[in-house]
Amino acid sequence: MSDKHDRYRKQTRLIQGKLRSPHWNYQDHIVPPIGASVAYRLESAARGAEGFRQFANPDFNRELQPPIYIYDRLDEPTRGMLEENLNVAEGGEACVTFATGMAAIAAVLGVLLKSGDILLSHRTIYGCTYSLFTNWLPRLGIKVLLEDLTDADRLRALLDRNPEIMVVYGETPCNPSLDLLDLAAMARVVGEYNGQRASRRRVFTVVDNTFATPFCQRPLEHGIDLVVQSLTKNIGGFGTDLGGAVIGPRLLEPDLLLYRKDFGGVLAPRVAWPHLVYGLPTLALRTRQQIATALRVAQFLAQHPKVERVSYPGLPSHPQHELARHQMRDFDGKFAPGIMIYLVLRGDGEAARQLGARVIDHVAENALSVTLAVSLGQIRTLIEHPASMTHAAVPTAIQEQLHIDPGGIRLSVGLEHPDDIIADLSAALDAA
Ligand SMILES: *Cc1c(COP(=O)(O)O)cnc(C)c1O
Repeated sequence: MSDKHDRYRKQTRLIQGKLRSPHWNYQDHIVPPIGASVAYRLESAARGAEGFRQFANPDFNRELQPPIYIYDRLDEPTRGMLEENLNVAEGGEACVTFATGMAAIAAVLGVLLKSGDILLSHRTIYGCTYSLFTNWLPRLGIKVLLEDLTDADRLRALLDRNPEIMVVYGETPCNPSLDLLDLAAMARVVGEYNGQRASRRRVFTVVDNTFATPFCQRPLEHGIDLVVQSLTKNIGGFGTDLGGAVIGPRLLEPDLLLYRKDFGGVLAPRVAWPHLVYGLPTLALRTRQQIATALRVAQFLAQHPKVERVSYPGLPSHPQHELARHQMRDFDGKFAPGIMIYLVLRGDGEAARQLGARVIDHVAENALSVTLAVSLGQIRTLIEHPASMTHAAVPTAIQEQLHIDPGGIRLSVGLEHPDDIIADLSAALDAA
């Protein structure tokens, strides 16, 4: 997708938006207004009919022509501008936002899958995504295979053995282990496989890019078909609002818009606004700083005697460091290993779990620079225990297979001074 602003860097475009946008019919504002109108004046029956004809119509490109707005649940200008800018960030053709990241994941799978199909997913995934895949999709007659997709040969064998697979799904870096999937290899294997199938039976690849953020990694550039994002995390950045998005090829935009209209998981304009005005424009600045801090924190943790291992794609000790260097690149092409750190404390099973609980309790009671909370990607550094918190939906026996260790701790690095974060973590580790 090219427009005349391609010569500007993404950092600039995410602040300025488009010079002329069809979503923008307010002449003089610099800051986009918050849409607060459920319905729109249609002026004539003919114009009303035209609005309904254009909505979710593949022949109508709402990025090029001003849409005729009808009703907030169909389309709306503030949200439309956020969608344009998310497209720029991820390098996509079309973006449809949703009320939350989970609504976006449910929508993309709702559009791509039907009863009798198989969803093949990498096995280490976000806790609620795991619950969606194991509790709800099977009720709709969709079978879910949770497998290790780090190995491209294995992916190929699974596709050959299961012709009902219609979607291949994964997160990279994975939550919480920070293992990586090779995006280009995944896209290549599925692409080769699709070459032998009728186009209506083509398999789509979907990647949850929430952990990496579009600043650090753009899966579409590696050949992945669709990206899902929880805007709630790094893109919102300040921890004030939920949100989700699907970014991908224009051919799926009509179905995504219709799905959103009929299932109703719409991102409210008032909520789209902070993502558009505060979150996305500061993504590059925040993330650059957070990566620099994360690297220092990871280096500190890696040499601490109570820490068994640290998983951070920016450390040469990460088993897939070379892959990280290749696929995690910022808008300017610099290595961008993200802001998430996973560490495993020394000790076996229950002993490690108790040590983890003591470290986290010490932080909760004493640390100013680190907060005990779930979620991630905020200006505040957050710490949590995946085995008992974010991934509690995953049965303990399965947690082990998913690389969720009893003594595992997940850190989302914020914007506090790195020396303070290290001092707080050091005090908690020494005391525990
Ligand atoms: C938080 C999260 C989600 C879900 O996003 P919500 O906005 O909370 O619904 C999905 N995937 C990952 C990786 C997440 O971290």
